[in-house]
Amino acid sequence: MAKLPFYNPVEQKVLIRNMITVTRYHDISAGHRVAGHESKCKHIHGHNYRFHFTVAAECLDSIGRVMDFSVIKDKLCQWLEDNYDHKLLLWENDPLLKQLIEIVPDDIVITPFNPTAENMAKYLVEIVGTQQLQGTGCTLVKCIVDETRKCSAGYEIKY
Ligand SMILES: [Zn+2]
Repeated sequence: MAKLPFYNPVEQKVLIRNMITVTRYHDISAGHRVAGHESKCKHIHGHNYRFHFTVAAECLDSIGRVMDFSVIKDKLCQWLEDNYDHKLLLWENDPLLKQLIEIVPDDIVITPFNPTAENMAKYLVEIVGTQQLQGTGCTLVKCIVDETRKCSAGYEIKY
C-alpha cells in the first residue's frame, strides 16, 4: 500500500494562514458552447448557473464579520448580473464568434477562455474577485460553478 506523505503543520506553518470565510450563492441564466468539445457541448446551449462565492479574511471586522453578505451581493453577484446574465458566452478564439457577433452583437460576451465551468470559476477568482474586492481587505478564495444540479466545477486559492 502506498504511504501518504507525512504532513506536519508545525513545520509547514509558514504556508498556513488562519482564514474565516463566508459564502453566498447567486443564480443566473446564460448560454455558451465549449469549442472543441467531442460531443453535445459543442452546440450552443444554456444553463441555469449557480455560482457559490467564498470570501475570506484573516480577521473579523469590529462587529464580527468577514464581510457583510450584502457587500458580496453588490460586488460579486451584481457583477454576474451585469456581465453574464442572459448572455451568450463565447471564447475569443471560437471559430463561430466572427459570424455570430455580426448577427447578435449585444447578446454575446467574449471570454478570454473557453467557457467551461472550470474556466469560469478560475476567472472569477483570479480576475473578477481581485478586481471587485480590491480595497475591502477580503479575498475571493473559492468559486464553485454549478452547471446543473449534478455537475459542478470549482477553483480555490490554496494558502
Ligand atoms: Zn454547457
